Order: sequence, then structure tokens, then C-alpha cells
Amino acid sequence: MTASRATTSGAPAVINGHDTATGTSVRTVQNYVGGRWIASDATRFGEVRNPANDELIARVPLGTEADVDRAVQAALKAYPAWRATPPVQRVKPLFKLKSVLEQHFDDLARVCTQEHGKTLDESRSSVRRAIDNVDLAIGIPDRMMGTSLEDIAAGIDCHTVRQPMGVFAAITPFNFPVMVPMWFLPHAVACGNTFIVKPSERVPLSQVRMFELMHEAGLPEGVVNLVNGAKDTVDAILDHAGIAGVSFVGSSPVAQYIYKRAAERGKRVQALGGAKNFVVVMPDADIPRAAQVSTESCFGCAGERCLANSVVLAVGDAHAKIRDRLVDEAKRIKVGDGQTPGVTMGPVITRQHREKILGYIEKGIAEGAKLVLDGRGLKDPSHPDGYYLGPSIFDEVRPEMVIAKEEIFGPVLCVMKAKDFDEAVEIVRKHELGNATSIFTSSGKWAREYRYRVEPSMLGVNIGVAAPMAFFPFGGAKGSFYGDLKAHGRDAIEFYTDKKVVISRWF
Ligand code: NAD
Repeated sequence: MTASRATTSGAPAVINGHDTATGTSVRTVQNYVGGRWIASDATRFGEVRNPANDELIARVPLGTEADVDRAVQAALKAYPAWRATPPVQRVKPLFKLKSVLEQHFDDLARVCTQEHGKTLDESRSSVRRAIDNVDLAIGIPDRMMGTSLEDIAAGIDCHTVRQPMGVFAAITPFNFPVMVPMWFLPHAVACGNTFIVKPSERVPLSQVRMFELMHEAGLPEGVVNLVNGAKDTVDAILDHAGIAGVSFVGSSPVAQYIYKRAAERGKRVQALGGAKNFVVVMPDADIPRAAQVSTESCFGCAGERCLANSVVLAVGDAHAKIRDRLVDEAKRIKVGDGQTPGVTMGPVITRQHREKILGYIEKGIAEGAKLVLDGRGLKDPSHPDGYYLGPSIFDEVRPEMVIAKEEIFGPVLCVMKAKDFDEAVEIVRKHELGNATSIFTSSGKWAREYRYRVEPSMLGVNIGVAAPMAFFPFGGAKGSFYGDLKAHGRDAIEFYTDKKVVISRWF
């Protein structure tokens, strides 16, 4: 780190006014390395736009190998002292962080909504989930304990200790800019590791704010670091010999790539991928409630949620009972700027993503699905340049259609029919993704049978968004997950520590 690159310790990473890096008046995001904000070496920059009105709000450096190396060196330097800090002391800055985050709760939600587009209520829920993870990590002195057994043979005792492993990194997606990095960082650092976050280049500002608050909370220099960038930055992380492990969340093709490349280089890796989540509605379900909850699940966060129920799979006469209700529920959604009170669905993330979703709708029509609610024409007159789409619903979707197979990640609900429960189970089992699923029924037998037979590993019974709390594991199955240990819960301790077995005999 050169003196000219560094800004004052703790100074905001986003600088308004004239920007010497790009020669424009738009602010440029910086990296947080070794406890200081520093400019990237990048010569290429991405744009961060407010999806509600297309306003350019920042530029993000598409970082370099040298940026990553600087962060790794800072994290490696901080590691010995941090590892030697007793766990009860290590959690002190996390206590402080918890209170700082509570203090700046609404501010964080606003930053999230501005760069992502989701409603303020949705942003607030995600900030709450981020704080839940800090809460959980504060319990590390108890949760990190090992095990022991006396007399594994006469006079010989055995115990295990959990030890941190060095520097870990998280590479995260655009859809939960505050929350997803916090699925990992608090647990990793509480266990005694040091950490690097590489947020999505589409939404870097929420993590900038989080790192300002981590600085305020007094996490020691180099314990947490922030590096901005895109694929090249990710590759530099995957290839860096100084990094012990990588946590990834994003689309399935990238998750698979990350898993392979990081594992080949001997790193620990957990890679959470994309989703196509089915909600099975049985004829005995509470249909009005199933319709309401499925609609909220599908269209919440404009469908940009890995737990969104994007396919309603109605069994037998449940189809006739639920279809029109889904349309009625969806028509009640108020689309607009997520900052406006009363708006229940914001825009999608970028203009390109909106085009991609429109392409899926065209494809569905061409494949012969019936578009019973068309959200394509929706406009917000007060924000003509925003990336808005209304909710769309396809009926008569069949499993072989592209809209049933691929993750659309937008406000598009597919409705399918199954003649009976077994056929519904088969459709879910045949899908290559397996993140989450739900069943709506009033029968404990169907619920149990469903849980028993389908693979997606986050499962709701009469629940629309089966989102595990911080103290349970989060992650899917099949093509939705590469690895074995999932995010947060007990798995976080397993992932971020190695278990050392000590066998002792004293003469
Ligand atoms: P993405 O895969 O495009 O990007 C995720 C991260 O990977 C970003 O930091 C990005 O910079 C990086 N990246 C993108 N392309 C890359 C490449 N070719 N090589 C190396 N790195 C690359 O995902 P996204 O669009 O930001 O997020 C949406 C996806 O994330 C959806 O598929 C969604 O289902 C998934 N997601 C999954 C979960 C889960 O728990 N399973 C949670 C949230 C989001």
C-alpha cells in the first residue's frame, strides 16, 4: 500500500465530487485493506445505477490481481495476533458491531434499496438477518468448543480442539447486498480467521457502508478487508496461495466453476448456486392462504431471491381452485420505487436483466405456455427510466419448457399441473436444481412424505419462503450447491475451523 493510494483511516470509501480515477464527477468506490480505504489499481470501471430511476450513483473498480494480493497480505499479517486473541476478546468488536449496526439500521436499508431496488421493508428484513449472524457469532466461545474422552485406552485421553485456518474470502451475489456477506464474515472472524469480501460489482455500496461500520466497531486492522471487482478479481482470489478457503453465493454455472477452481488449488470451498423452487399445492390445502403466500414468495424482491417459489405445481383440482386467485393476488402488487411507502415490488437490478426476463417471457409464449398475467407493459410514470416489470404469470407450463427449467430470477410465476402427488414429486425430483421447495397441505402425511422424498434441502410446509435462521444451515442440493458444509448455523464453525485430535498419555 503506497502512501498516495491510502486515504485517512476510516474515511468514507465513496468520494463525492471530482474523481481523479475516472476524470468524472461520479463517486468511485474504494477498497478497505488493512484498516484503511485505498483506491484500486483498476483501469476499468463498472457502473452502479439506481434501478428505480437509472441514475448513475457510483463507479466500481474492476479490480486487479495486485488489489487482491494487497488484501491477502494485510489479512495474513493480521492473522497471527487475531488467532492468538482469546475468543472472549475476539467477540468484543462483534458486540460493538451489533450495536453500531442497530444504530445505523435504517441507513443501511436505504443504501441497499438505492443500489438494489428492493423495497425499504425488504431491505430492512435483510439487514435484520445480517445482524442475526453477528448475534450468533458472538456466542463463539461456547460454540467453538471441542470434545474430549477420557481413557480411550488405559491411561490415554483424547480431545479435539478447533483451530482457525488463516485467510478466508467470500464472493457474493447482487440480490442481498448487506446480508449475504454476513452469512460468512462474523463466523469466520469469530473463529479466529481473517477475511476478505468481494461483493457483487452491481451493488458494492452496501458493503462499503458495512465496512465503515466495522471500522467504527474497532475490528483490528487487516482482520476484515473489502476488495471490489468482477471475474478477474474472483480468479485472483481463487488462485491466491495465501487464501485457505472460499465461500461463494451466486448462479449455478459460476458456483460450479468456483468449486472446481478453488478445490484444485487445495482450498476449502462452499459454493451456493441458483434455484428453481417449486411449491406443491395439494387439493386439501388452505387455497386462499396458499395463493397469497406463494404470490408473496414469487414476487417479493421482484423475484430476485434464491428462495422464491417460482413454480406453483398444483395437484389435481387444486389447479382450478388456485389459478385465478394467484392472478388476483398478483394484481394487488404495487410496483414502483422501493423507497416510496406503499410500494410492494421494486424494479429489477439492471436494464440488461430486465431484457433477459422479457426474453424468457417471449420464450414462454413461443413454447405454448399461456400468459394469464402480463407484466411487460408496466411503467412508473414518475420514473420512466427505471427497470420496472409488473408481475407475470404463465399457466399450462410443462416441465420440458425452458421457463420451467431455467432460473428466470425475476417477477415471473409458472403454474403447472400434476395429476397426483406422485407426479408432483417426480417433477420436483427430475429438476436439476434443488435449492428450496414448499408444500401446502392440511395433511401431516403428505407433508412428511414430501419431506422424505424430494431433495431440495430448504423445505417449507405451508411456508412460502423457507429461509433458515442464522442458527440453522442455509444451502441447497443438486445443482444448487457445490460442497458439503453450508452457510451459517453449526456448519459455519465446521467450515471455518480445522479439528485437531490430541491423544495424550502421561508417564
Ligand atoms: P453471479 O453468479 O452472476 O455473481 C455472483 C458473484 O460471482 C459476483 O460477485 C460476481 O462478480 C462473480 N462472478 C460472476 N461471473 C463470474 C465468472 N464468470 N467467474 C468468476 N466470478 C464471477 O450471480 P448474481 O447474478 O450476482 O446473483 C444471482 C444468483 O445468485 C442467482 O442464481 C441466485 O439464485 C443466486 N443466489 C443463490 C443463493 C443461495 O443461497 N443458493 C442466495 C442468493 C443468490
